[in-house]
Amino acid sequence: MKRGKKTPGKSSPQSYDVIIVGGGLAGLSLACLLGETAPALTIACIDRDDPQRAVDGDFRTTAISYGSSRILARAGLWREMEKLGCPIRDIRIFDKDTPLLLQFLSDEMNGKDFGWIIKNSDLRGVMHQKIAALPRVTHIPRMGVTDFENTGEQVEVTLESGQTLSARLVIGADGRNSLVRDWLDIPTRRWNYGQRAVICNIAHENPHENRAIENFWPQGPFAILPVNDDKAGRHISSLVFTEHGPKSASLMKLDDEAFLQAVADKFPAFYGEIELASPRQCYPLSLIHAARYIGPRMALVADAAHAIHPVAGQGLNLGFRDIGELAGLIAQAAEKGEDIGAPDLLEAYQRRRRPDNVAMAAVTDALVRLFSNNLPPVRLLRRAGLRAVSALPPAKRFFMKNAMGTGK
Ligand SMILES: Cc1cc2nc3c(=O)[nH]c(=O)nc-3n(C[C@H](O)[C@H](O)[C@H](O)COP(=O)(O)OP(=O)(O)OC[C@H]3O[C@@H](n4cnc5c(N)ncnc54)[C@H](O)[C@@H]3O)c2cc1C
Repeated sequence: MKRGKKTPGKSSPQSYDVIIVGGGLAGLSLACLLGETAPALTIACIDRDDPQRAVDGDFRTTAISYGSSRILARAGLWREMEKLGCPIRDIRIFDKDTPLLLQFLSDEMNGKDFGWIIKNSDLRGVMHQKIAALPRVTHIPRMGVTDFENTGEQVEVTLESGQTLSARLVIGADGRNSLVRDWLDIPTRRWNYGQRAVICNIAHENPHENRAIENFWPQGPFAILPVNDDKAGRHISSLVFTEHGPKSASLMKLDDEAFLQAVADKFPAFYGEIELASPRQCYPLSLIHAARYIGPRMALVADAAHAIHPVAGQGLNLGFRDIGELAGLIAQAAEKGEDIGAPDLLEAYQRRRRPDNVAMAAVTDALVRLFSNNLPPVRLLRRAGLRAVSALPPAKRFFMKNAMGTGK
């Protein structure tokens, strides 16, 4: 990775306390959280995308856990997000063509919702509005970051416009192909699942009754997640249809009618007639985990540090936990007048977050491997395992608490 050299005689860079590289859902929420909890700090959040295109061009939804909702509340985001979210109250698990194997009901958890399904476009919309109202947070969209230089006291960040900014701490929230991670020469463990998630929204005849369905097929999980009715009053669920095999045989190659038929073949009759309610999008699935989350005056959060398979809907929830932890440490240091980029602060962040992220990556990886395996003995064993969890209330409660992000 090329390391930039300062041009002699160049004017001094505009300075911030914290620069966040990447304004996806992680970077934007971190900017909001710092803006709320460390109001004395100046923050810049830089993203190369056009914000409106990012809102309009993402048809995914995210399952937000109860734990994440607490972090988003601290960022002043949750009140608006909750209005847009659809609570999950019933989770049903199937293995290919089995009858119901395992069911989690919020009634078994004193009526507490397991989480909320919120459109990514709605999450972003609320974050953009919040950032605009935070006086010391600057959102710099449509601007790529190209290079860094660490001077010891601060990090200088070069933008594609040629302008430089500086900060005492630079946070990489720049996603799975993180430039910050590459610049720090941090190695990663990574593998490709050979699977792709084809996502879209489906309108259905009957209400979903806040039901989330996860059906494990050998080619990958088929998930149906409850979303609020659309403006036309249609009942909507969001679909994650995982596939594997050559791209040339992808569901993305089918016309709408053939795709809808492939969906209908796996969609439970309970929903009644179905129709497409959004275009399809496709995401290749892989696991990437950074060996370290920190370097001098730099840290990685969310997908830049760890990207996992979406089978359990936990990727961004882990990212929110990173953000909650890091922002807490920064706010504390700022309040005491200490250095917000100090090595012991960054080490504390890494120590507190890595074990949780490693454990979740291992669990989701094991789930994918276990459930993508069509060998009869493995199939028998996992079905017996799911029935055993179903029959054991403490085991069920353990899984329900983890789904809610309150498992620890
Ligand atoms: C199909 C699918 C379903 C999912 N469902 C769930 C779910 O239900 N629950 C859940 O918790 N998670 C889920 N996830 C995971 C979740 O979507 C990701 O964890 C999350 O989007 C990561 O956000 P991020 O901000 O870290 O990264 P990104 O969304 O990748 O954002 C990174 C940003 O950085 C910017 N950027 C990159 N490089 C630069 C640069 N050099 N300069 C400036 N900007 C730059 C990019 O433009 C981008 O906006 C799902 C993922 C998939 C694929």
